[in-house]
Amino acid sequence: MKESTEETVWQVRNSFLGVYVHFPYCFKKCDYCDFYSEGIGASPANDELSLFSAYQKEVLERVSHFPNLRHRTIDTVFFGGGTPSKAKTKNWSHFLEFLRSEFNVSRDVEISIEVNPEDLSSQLLDEYAKIGINRVNVGVQTRNPQGLEYLGRHYDKEKYDSLFLTLTHSPIKRVGIDLMYGIPGLQRSDFLSDLHYFLEAGFPHLSLYSLTLEKGTQYSRDVKDHKKKEPEESIQSEILTTLPELMKSHGYRWYEVSNYAKPGFESKHNLKYWTFEPYLGIGPGAHGMIEGYRYGNPRNANLYQKKIPAKQYEPVTPNSELALTLFRLFSPFRYLEFIETYLDKSSQTKFKETINLWEKRGLCTVSNGIFQWKKEALLLLDDLILSIAN
Ligand code: SF4
Repeated sequence: MKESTEETVWQVRNSFLGVYVHFPYCFKKCDYCDFYSEGIGASPANDELSLFSAYQKEVLERVSHFPNLRHRTIDTVFFGGGTPSKAKTKNWSHFLEFLRSEFNVSRDVEISIEVNPEDLSSQLLDEYAKIGINRVNVGVQTRNPQGLEYLGRHYDKEKYDSLFLTLTHSPIKRVGIDLMYGIPGLQRSDFLSDLHYFLEAGFPHLSLYSLTLEKGTQYSRDVKDHKKKEPEESIQSEILTTLPELMKSHGYRWYEVSNYAKPGFESKHNLKYWTFEPYLGIGPGAHGMIEGYRYGNPRNANLYQKKIPAKQYEPVTPNSELALTLFRLFSPFRYLEFIETYLDKSSQTKFKETINLWEKRGLCTVSNGIFQWKKEALLLLDDLILSIAN
């Protein structure tokens, strides 16, 4: 990554390592969620200790399979889920100690955790700051109680009302908020009112997602049974195209299709997925990409703990995978460097030809090996990415 006063230009950066850890338990399974997660109410998970011990076993098994991993420096750690804020802080602390004892960890490592509003408190943030967590991402989705109910999401009024104040006094300054739009029954103005509420606080990172209908979820079954409506697509397109200017006027950079950050506050960990950097994925339902291979763990916490899966690896196929990730970036990136590092000659030619066509159609700018989408590409993005990936 190279910082400039104008804009960060992303470049190939593949000698570091990110670590993602999946904690699969939540207070309640949300109806739209297709991550591997299980709703268990307010109590702690029965198997929390053994799950954390399985995390360590999995790291060691992956390292024994790819000893080269030890030569990498960990520069990002991300505790995701599920709801990782449901787990005891001391277990995350032990896991971080374990990583530090096994790997080189960069001095300016980014350590993030996803927090759900029901768990958020000043005390929790203090605990996180003490163990070295320096970025929190809060899954708010919407502050509208009807919207949360529609999503089948747990709502704790007191916590939703106090989260603004708790986060503005947080000892951890890298705060991200996730908001969702296109929830049936809510209007554009409902979303904008949520957004302005958080813009006022100046939290440095906002992930602004549209609600999607994912196969196998309760929401998709409810839509099929005509109990619920599909996401509001016309409102979604309208919001999607309004956001870049609106966010820019508040000092945010649009760096990925759904992600906005104040300069320097981008999620270093999530950027790894989009810029094809290696990462270990640990825990049930986690995916990883290390040393040119991908793997995925079973979406079942019991099974995962019984038999740590460390032997099934698929070679990465960069020709399509690079396209599917890299072209989600809306900030500039050194596309020539990426394709020359990862692609074979014939794919390089295809990428260059397709990019030329896009440039002629006025969808992107290309200069000195640097690519950047124009906002005209936004509504066509999925098709454009598929056209270069296939
Ligand atoms: S809290 Fe997050 S991970 Fe858990 S069920 Fe809801 S959306 Fe999924």
